[in-house]
Amino acid sequence: MQYIEYGNTGLKVSRFGLGCMRFPGSETEAIEMVRYALDHGVNYSDTAYVYGNSEVILGKALKDGYRDKTYLATKSPIWNITKHEDFEKYLDEQLLRLETDHIDVYLLHNLGFDNWQKVKQYDGFSFLDKMIQKGKIKHKAFSFHGTLALFKEVVNAYDWEMAQIQLNILDEYQQAGVEGLQHAAKKGMAVVIMEPLRGGHILNHCPGQALDLINAYPEKRSLVEWAFRWLYNMPEATVILSGTSTLDQLKDNLNIFENARPSVMSSGDLNFIKSIREQFENKSSINCTGCKYCMPCPNGVDIPQIFKLYNNASMMEGYPVDRVVYQNTIVPSGCGVDQCIECGLCMEHCPQNIKIPENLKKAHETLNQKFR
Ligand code: SF4
Ligand code: SF4
Repeated sequence: MQYIEYGNTGLKVSRFGLGCMRFPGSETEAIEMVRYALDHGVNYSDTAYVYGNSEVILGKALKDGYRDKTYLATKSPIWNITKHEDFEKYLDEQLLRLETDHIDVYLLHNLGFDNWQKVKQYDGFSFLDKMIQKGKIKHKAFSFHGTLALFKEVVNAYDWEMAQIQLNILDEYQQAGVEGLQHAAKKGMAVVIMEPLRGGHILNHCPGQALDLINAYPEKRSLVEWAFRWLYNMPEATVILSGTSTLDQLKDNLNIFENARPSVMSSGDLNFIKSIREQFENKSSINCTGCKYCMPCPNGVDIPQIFKLYNNASMMEGYPVDRVVYQNTIVPSGCGVDQCIECGLCMEHCPQNIKIPENLKKAHETLNQKFR
């Protein structure tokens, strides 16, 4: 296992982090999996209040001395907070569930536009500071699904020690993206990567042409290996979480991470990943190149962002995060399709001749579907 500095905290963490969102069905298997990971050098475990009974199972797995083998990260359910005191109430419940007296890294969960307003309204900042003073948490952090602009606003608003973002070979320019990763790292923050395979959808929806490219490439690696390698190649990507649900998957992941050193990819390898991404993008429903010639819309509609989310959502049916971003960030910040008055101004500038208002409506229908 390879280890790396966790931002400016002084902690040294394994580059592979155990994501505890998708535990196996049986509690015994889940406990065996956690302990296997910790026995093989993993020292970072990530869960959340809302991951079913994950906190309770993890608490059991960390008995018998295993708690001392891992840094423990969990997350506050911001959407349940209705007053300042609720923050500590949930944290106390989590300490009980996890059977521990402190959380190493405590995250405010899923900061899109809506949850970010709540954090400010109910002063999540002084809560985090107070909990550090009381010793209930050691480090303060947030997880994020939203736009790059919002990510920078959140990062710059407080002295966070870590940001957890979605990043994978398809998301270089989406959500916080690589630019967000580098922005946070420059401020001395650790950055933890989630959704390295978009919950497995990158494997399940991989176009045949992308597989052909992988088979033809001189360096022989599987799609999963390339996806992880692209992430651990970036020195700013501190920990890469993987939510394995079987022991065999975990073992495969640990093999891949044995040599997870930064800066191992050549420029040829990076171009190869770009060509794989292009094969996914060729499956897009709307031929938007993201050139932004249609912007700004006088009514604030974020046309390219909405088309990107729609293309993702239709390419990977059943994957909810694009709908989360649309409903929790794009619409409440006044950039959604509900603002479109169908004036048609944008269409005059689109080099792809996209019928923008009509396609926006189609996108809204998909992105506005329930995700919980
Ligand atoms: S048609 Fe809609 S998206 Fe296009 S410029 Fe007019 S209001 Fe904006
Ligand atoms: S001008 Fe057309 S192709 Fe360019 S971002 Fe707007 S909709 Fe997409």
